[in-house]
Amino acid sequence: MSEEEAKLLEELKRLLREGREARRRREFDEAKELYKEGKELAVRAGWEEDAAVFEASILLIDKKFEDVISFLSPIVEKPALHLRGDAYLRIGWVQDRMKLYEQAILSYQKALGDPNYDTPGKAWHNMGITHRLRGEFEEALQWLRKAREWYLANEPRGVENVDYHISSIRRQQELRKRGLNKAAEEVGKIASLSTRESTDPLIRIRDILAENRNKVGEYAERDGREDTDILAILKGWSSSIPIISAVDRERFGGQICQGGGYFVKTEREGIVIDPGLDFLANFGTIGFHIKEVSQVIVSHNHIDHCADLIRLADLEHQWRLYDPKAERKPNICFHLDIDTHEGHRPRLLDTGVDNLNVRPINSQQPNYSINEQVTLKVFHTEHDPDNRIPDSIGFVLNLIVARDRKRSIGYTSDTAFFKRLPKYLSNCDIIIAHFSYAEPADYEGKESHTRHLGYTGLLRLIKETEANLYVISEFWGGRGDCRIELVQKLLYDLKRESREVKIIPGDVSCIIGLRKLDIRCSRCGEFVPYEEIFVTAPEVPFGKLRYLCKNCLLG
Ligand SMILES: [Zn+2]
Ligand SMILES: [Zn+2]
Repeated sequence: MSEEEAKLLEELKRLLREGREARRRREFDEAKELYKEGKELAVRAGWEEDAAVFEASILLIDKKFEDVISFLSPIVEKPALHLRGDAYLRIGWVQDRMKLYEQAILSYQKALGDPNYDTPGKAWHNMGITHRLRGEFEEALQWLRKAREWYLANEPRGVENVDYHISSIRRQQELRKRGLNKAAEEVGKIASLSTRESTDPLIRIRDILAENRNKVGEYAERDGREDTDILAILKGWSSSIPIISAVDRERFGGQICQGGGYFVKTEREGIVIDPGLDFLANFGTIGFHIKEVSQVIVSHNHIDHCADLIRLADLEHQWRLYDPKAERKPNICFHLDIDTHEGHRPRLLDTGVDNLNVRPINSQQPNYSINEQVTLKVFHTEHDPDNRIPDSIGFVLNLIVARDRKRSIGYTSDTAFFKRLPKYLSNCDIIIAHFSYAEPADYEGKESHTRHLGYTGLLRLIKETEANLYVISEFWGGRGDCRIELVQKLLYDLKRESREVKIIPGDVSCIIGLRKLDIRCSRCGEFVPYEEIFVTAPEVPFGKLRYLCKNCLLG
C-alpha cells in the first residue's frame, strides 16, 4: 500500500469512528453526514467497495437492515476492499438481529481475521453476546473478557456494559450448577420486544404464575431480628440530603447514610420514633421486619420525621395479607402530634389502619401509657420561632427491660434550647439530642441556634442533665461533615469543667443495648462497653460512621 493509500485509509477509519460516536450521541444527521463524506472520499479514490461500507452504515441508521446484507454481501470478499473488518461487523450485527447466530459468529470471526480491522473489541463483545444468546456461557465469558480488556484500553465507558453481562452470565452458571435451570433461564432472559414470539407467551405466563413466586409473600415470611432491649439509630443525614446524595450513593456504593428515625425494641414492644425519609430502607437494611413494630410515635410534621409514616402503615397492611401468623399480632398503634395527626390520619385510615389505632398526643395532656410497662411523657418544644409548627413535641419514653430494670429514653426531637428542656429530661438513661449544625460563633458560645440545639444548646443540655449516654443525631449536611469533631469538642469542653460524659454521634447501624447501655460493634455484632467502642470516620465525607470494638478495629 502506498503512502497516499495508507493516508486515505486512515481518513476513512476516522470518519467511521466519528460517525459511530455521533450515532452513540444519537446525532443521526451528523452521523449520516460523516458517512456521506466517507462515501464520497472513497468513490473519488475509486474505492467503490469501501464506499459500500459507508453506504451500509447509512442504511443501518435508516433501519433498512436487510438491505445492509444484500448491499455488503457482493463486495465483502473482493480483494480491493480495505474495510473488510468493518463490513463483516455490520453483517454480523444484522445477522444477530435476525437471530442467525451461527452466521453472525462466522461474520465476527471474519472481521477479526482482517489485519486492518482496528476495533476488535466490538467484534469480541458481539461474539460474547451471541454465544450468550445461544446459552454457551464459557465461550461467552471468554469473548467478553477479551472485549473488556480492549474497552479498558480504548473506550473505558464500554467496560460497564460488558461487566454487567459477565456478572449476569456468572449468575446464570451458578444457578445452573445448583440445578436451578428455570431460574438460570430467567436471569438469561433478554426480552426482544420488537420480534414476534413463535409460541404463545401465555404458556410461559401460566408457568410463572404456577410457581407462585410472590415478592411480598417472600418478605412476609421472613424473620426479623432476634435481639431485644435495644435502641437502633436509623437516622443518618437529615432532610436536605437524600436527593442530593443519590448520585454519591451510586459512586460510593451505598455508603451515604441518610434520613431515618429510631427503633426501640423490648420483649413486648417495637417502637418506631419519627419514621422520616428512608426510614424503611434503613430499617430493612439493618435486618428489622415490619412484624416487629407495635407502636409508632411522631414528634412533628416535618418530612425528615414522618415521610415514611404512610409507607410503614401500607407495609403492615401488605404483610398481613400474606403471613397467616399476622393475625395473632395486634395492629400497630400510631401516636402522632396534633399537626401530623390532622395531616396524616385520613391517609393512614386509607391503608387499612383501624380508627382506634391512630391517636393524637400533645403536651397539654402529657402522660400516655402504651402498656403497663411502657409510658410516654410528652413536652412542648421550640422548633420554630415563627410558630409555624406549634404542636411539635419531645418526650421521655419509660420502659422495662430484662430483669425488670427501668430505662428511660429522652428525645429532644427538633428544638432550640429552652430553659425547661433539661428539667423534662432530668432523669433519663439515654438522651437523643438533635443538633442540626453550628457556625463558629455558636461553637464559641456567642450565638445560638433558633430552631435546633446547635452547639451551645447541646452543651447546655448536657451540662444540665445527667444521662448515662448521649446520642447526638440529626446532622444537617449543608456545612460539611464534622460529626466526629463535634463530639470531640463536646468532650473537650466538658472535661475542662471536670465532667466525664458518654457521648456518641448517631448514624444508621449504631445500636445501643438497653440492659447495660453498651454499644454494638458494627463489624462483629458484639455489644461492648462504651469505653471500648471506637467511632471511625467515614472513607468519604458524609459517609457511614462505623462503631468498632477493639478487636475489629485492629483487624
Ligand atoms: Zn423538624
Ligand atoms: Zn428534623
